[in-house]
Order: sequence, then structure tokens, then C-alpha cells
Amino acid sequence: MQDTSPTAYDLARVLRRFSPTGPPLDQVRIQFSCVTIILIRRCPVSLGLGNPGSSHGALRIGRLGFSFHDNTAAFKAIVDGYDKWASCLIQHNYMDIENQAGTEGLRYAVAHGLPVAIMEPLLGGCLARPPAEAQVVFAEAQRDWTPAEWALHWLWDQPEVSVVLSGMGSAEQVEANVRAANESAVGSLTPEDHAAIDRAREAFRARIPVPCTGCGYCLPCPHGVKIPSIIEIYNDNAMYGNTDRQRLVYNWRLGPEEQAASCEACGECEEKCPQDIAICELMPKIHEALTGS
Ligand code: SF4
Ligand code: SF4
Repeated sequence: MQDTSPTAYDLARVLRRFSPTGPPLDQVRIQFSCVTIILIRRCPVSLGLGNPGSSHGALRIGRLGFSFHDNTAAFKAIVDGYDKWASCLIQHNYMDIENQAGTEGLRYAVAHGLPVAIMEPLLGGCLARPPAEAQVVFAEAQRDWTPAEWALHWLWDQPEVSVVLSGMGSAEQVEANVRAANESAVGSLTPEDHAAIDRAREAFRARIPVPCTGCGYCLPCPHGVKIPSIIEIYNDNAMYGNTDRQRLVYNWRLGPEEQAASCEACGECEEKCPQDIAICELMPKIHEALTGS
């Protein structure tokens, strides 16, 4: 069971799990380390890290960074919670400008002196295989780029981005990314390029089936159902057509009691929803789509 106590975050304990037969921790010095802070709402942590170079438990760590998946407010709280962060790693791409840390979080980190590395630049491959409408947008633009290259150039164009980490599954992908990186430069996208990216984003969003704004007025559900998160994952599934990934996200982000199967169809949430979404009807349908059962 996940330990959610404030002391769960203990670098020494975590490292010992991975290296049970290694040297005594007080003889270890780690030059760089990146801790993963996944969902601060599900795993409340006490940062209390002290100074770099000093002991964290029995460990000495030179430069400490963090990777992150949560919302912008949580991201800012982590940046503000420790004044010696050496770097951070966030999910960012042209579809996630208002999701997770978002563009606001990216700029906040840089304004606070943090270099930012980017993960998920292609959103698990979804941006390399956009819907036909987005492919038409890119084909009509005055660039000889693949959809994946459009996504990477959009990131490399931004002065706040220090490095982009893109997973590559073949030598051809490595060569293509190196070629594209050699052509990239901060500020190299034209207004027409940005307009093409905006139209591609809209092509993705046009596939969203449920007009949920994420306002949260439907909460709290008396049975603990996390309605907006469930609908967001369902909409992402329709947008990106990557059901395996969204099924993983559903089980990773939500405990069984928070999932759509816990809905008792009481109707309380529907009375509060300004979008008149038929939530009772939707919940079993979503659960089936995201679990196959
Ligand atoms: S209808 Fe379902 S999701 Fe809505 S409040 Fe009732 S139990 Fe919760
Ligand atoms: S109240 Fe309606 S629109 Fe707002 S988060 Fe809930 S389901 Fe979505």
C-alpha cells in the first residue's frame, strides 16, 4: 500500500531499496538527482530537504531536481517550497499548454532560475499520429516537417525550454530527430507556423465528445467519484485514439473508489453541472470504455 504520510518522501530509504547491497549511504555522494513528484494531491510530501551538499537522511546530494505530473498550482508550490532546486522535468507539448505545469508553470520555473527539461514532447506518440484533419493542416503549411517534427520544433522554438527528451524506438527516429534538431532554433517559428499549430490543436479538440470544462461544480460526489478527472481521461481517449495509454492513466490517477463504477446514479451532480452533462448515464459508459468491463 502507498505510504502517504508526510515522511513518505525519504531519499535514503528509496535509494536503499534500489541498492540494498551498495556502500553505506553516508559514504555515497550523488552529484545530480532527480526526484519524481507525481501527484502531490495523492502523496502529500514534506519537502524539508535542507541544503544541497548536506545530508538528506544519510545521503549527500549535490544538485537536486524534480520531475512532475500535477497541476500548475501544485507545480508552483513545489518550486516555491525549496530554494535550491537545480532543475525540473515537466510534461509539455502543444496540446498541454494548459495541462499539468503548462506554459504558465514553464515560465514560472524559468523566472525562478530553474532550467526546465521537457518530457512527453509527442504525448506518448499521439502527436506523431495526429487525426486526419490535423495532418491536412500540416500538409498545407509551408514546411517539410512530419507531425512529430512540428511538435518538436514548437518546443525548441521556446527560449524557456532547456532540453527536450524524446523517446526514440529506432535508429531512423534518432537520425530524424537529430536532423530536425540541427535545423531548430529559438524563435525560428513564423506567425504562420504558430497558426498551423493552433489549427492542429483545434483539430484534436474537435474530437472531444463531452463538453466538460473541468469547473468542478459537480463535486463533491457523495460516493467519491472524481467526475471531472474521469471525463477528462475519456475525452483524451477520444482525442488521441490511444486507449491503452488512457486505460493506464485511468488506473494510475484514480483509485477504484474514485472511478466511474462507484457512481450510484443519485443525480446530485447533474443538478449542479452548468453544461447539463448527463453524468449518470455517462459514468457506466466511460468505465466500460476505460476498463473494457
Ligand atoms: S450521479 Fe454518480 S457521480 Fe453524480 S453525484 Fe451521484 S454518485 Fe456521484
Ligand atoms: S460541473 Fe459539469 S462541466 Fe463542471 S466539471 Fe462537473 S461535469 Fe464538468
